Amino acid sequence: KEKLIEVKNLKKYFSIGKGKVLKAVDDVSFDIYKGETLGLVGESGCGKSTIGRTIIQLYNATSGQVNYDGKDSREKSAVELKKMKRNMQMIFQDPYSSLNPRMTVLEIISEGIGNHEAHLNTKEKEAKVYHLLESVGLNKSHAQRYPHEFSGGQRQRIGIARALAVEPEFIIADEPIAALDVSIQAQIVNLMQELQQKKELTYLFIAHDLSMVKHISDRIAVMYLGAMVELSDSENLYDHPLHPYTQALLSAIPIPDPKIERTRERIILEGDLPNPVDPPSGCRFRTRCPKAMQMCSESVPIWEEVSSNHFVACHLYH
Ligand code: SF4
Ligand code: MG
Repeated sequence: KEKLIEVKNLKKYFSIGKGKVLKAVDDVSFDIYKGETLGLVGESGCGKSTIGRTIIQLYNATSGQVNYDGKDSREKSAVELKKMKRNMQMIFQDPYSSLNPRMTVLEIISEGIGNHEAHLNTKEKEAKVYHLLESVGLNKSHAQRYPHEFSGGQRQRIGIARALAVEPEFIIADEPIAALDVSIQAQIVNLMQELQQKKELTYLFIAHDLSMVKHISDRIAVMYLGAMVELSDSENLYDHPLHPYTQALLSAIPIPDPKIERTRERIILEGDLPNPVDPPSGCRFRTRCPKAMQMCSESVPIWEEVSSNHFVACHLYH
């Protein structure tokens, strides 16, 4: 499989005053393959949005690198950078806050097209907006309305149409369904999958729990407190989770069919999420890990591929 994005030893630190540093992303390495959906899961504040924003160049990395199409973003020319940024778009949890309330849907989506295809005249742009609206399950009649006139699910569709206006190849969806009703969530996930096939898109799909990413992801990465702890094919991750944190997250997902006997013991994590400004020594999960050993406080577990395409950072497997 071809790699679209390679993230190598990425660190993103924020200085938060009084000499303190928040290590939002601390030495994370992974790849994203062309055409796949990589799910990125973890509790809020674990650094998943920061990874997305650093890949898309909304943030500069503190250190480490992000390669796009085989080339380090820092070594790209201005023209290449511009092209790269256009090829990457973001969809947000709350599209409402990112849609200008004083602009019509037509204006909102045209804006994206205008930046991308300046040569189009007004009529051509309009036709393209209508086409985009149809591709997300809306239509021409919605074009003259304002964001507040739509439901949450419809607004997310508008957000998707706007992202698609520049014809990107990579989309970071930052909790795109977390704020929607359960019935609407499935519709948006289905729409995203349909668009992925039609337009050969690659997705980084960020979510705070594993049940949300299960159906859309080819592979899933799990984060805890700024570090990646496990990454694997989705099915394998569900069937053979290795990291104790992944095991705990999975044990919390209800099994929908009562006829299926629950094979997973519910694992309740003790304690609160530690302060990311002052994470535990060694393995940062050790203060809540049911399997913590002496060495877990002494050394940081290495991120390693323990079997084909299955990465984990935990002393139990080295
Ligand atoms: Fe638990 Fe130790 Fe593995 Fe960390 S390294 S997850 S503390 S067993
Ligand atoms: Mg977030």
